[in-house]
Amino acid sequence: TTINELKESDKKYFLHPTTSIKQHQANGPSFIFKEGKGIYLTDINGDQYIDAMSSLWNVNIGHGREEIAEAAKEQMSTLAYSSCFQGFSHEPVIRLSEKLASITPGDLNVSFFTSGGSESNDTAFKLIRHYWKLKGEAKRTKIIGVKRGYHGITVGATSATGIDQFQNMATAKAPDFVHATTRFKTNCELGDKSDPDYAGSIRGTIEKEGTETVAAIIVEPVMGAGGLFIPPAGYLQALRKLCDEYGILMIADEVICGFGRTGKMFGVDNWDVVPDVMTVAKGITSAYIQLGAVIITERLRNELAEISPNDVFFHGFTYSGHTTACAIALKNIEIIEREDLVGNAKRMEAELMKGFKYLENNHSIVTKSRAIGLLAGFELLKDREKGVPFDQAIMAAPKVVGECHKRKLIVRPVVFEGSNSIVFAPPLITNKEQVETIINKLSDAISAFERQGHL
Ligand code: PLP
Repeated sequence: TTINELKESDKKYFLHPTTSIKQHQANGPSFIFKEGKGIYLTDINGDQYIDAMSSLWNVNIGHGREEIAEAAKEQMSTLAYSSCFQGFSHEPVIRLSEKLASITPGDLNVSFFTSGGSESNDTAFKLIRHYWKLKGEAKRTKIIGVKRGYHGITVGATSATGIDQFQNMATAKAPDFVHATTRFKTNCELGDKSDPDYAGSIRGTIEKEGTETVAAIIVEPVMGAGGLFIPPAGYLQALRKLCDEYGILMIADEVICGFGRTGKMFGVDNWDVVPDVMTVAKGITSAYIQLGAVIITERLRNELAEISPNDVFFHGFTYSGHTTACAIALKNIEIIEREDLVGNAKRMEAELMKGFKYLENNHSIVTKSRAIGLLAGFELLKDREKGVPFDQAIMAAPKVVGECHKRKLIVRPVVFEGSNSIVFAPPLITNKEQVETIINKLSDAISAFERQGHL
């Protein structure tokens, strides 16, 4: 009865994020978890699931790390919190800033702290617009994102997000956010105007908007929530070149990619690109507590200081540089480095791809499998050879994911304009045997879907 009571109270009192209100009212929560250890989550029935999404792509070091709990306890017992406004500081925030400077590429050496990815992106937009205003280029206000890009849910971050469902919510789009519609075509970004997709590229969009009106572009090094797209060779370098050419700032949204997810410490490290601004969250604490950061180049910070010495950066959250959150982040990064979890993510990429090839060989509906580190996905097609997608109404990916749930495997469906993908982001501690178990469960789940007769 306790379980039922919990379900009833959840139905009655809890408004879930990104969940159908009506369906939740009718059915209650899909899971109620009570324990996490390693790559596993256990629900209140005692059933153990593989968390192959690291929850929301964020539990990078896995669940249930006592060491983190101890670091939190120690910090909370000493100094749980003190503010960072008006120059106040404390050791955890100083050490974390120093650490981030040492692991981020190039001269990305100066950090501002937030409580998550959306706040980090909003901060980046404000900071960059402030910068252009100080420089006497107040017309540079536009932020260019890409269609399907996901950057969060505060008003600014939603506006930068290129997924309509989010922007439809209370017509949230703020002015001066523009989206490029052509994704990941290196030749277009290098200026190939003969390509029919050129106008929709980031370069084409910047030219259309007027280069003197563009403040920054924002991209995820590897697109996550929008459907797991790994950019082709040369793409991010082309964007860097484009920004340099027009003096536009480049923001890399590393909220998912950061802290080892892609088999490098940061997503941009796969292509040796140094953005002007990097936004991070999720993996910075492996979700043990909320924290985000905006990391800017020393050049940008120095310019801000020099152009207007009397100017105050009028922006700060109560929890900018939260003491305990910073202590947890430090311990988390220590674990990532000590256990070589970045290297493990790279090694497991090969194992995952081997598994995906097995799935492709055994299931005619599986195609376009891809992985970079432990960030991976594949697509489901009704007819792989002819490229025919499933009818939207079939909801192929959600159905396969439903079958995965029955087999105690948590993965995520992405349904978009007729395409059905399944995406994965298992904890960076996942080993070869666990990858095999994930693949076997997937194979069973896909077989069960195939038996439903949608082909
Ligand atoms: N940016 C990216 C790439 C994300 O995937 C997310 C969240 O999934 C965000 C930003 C927003 O982060 P948060 O949910 O912590 O505000």
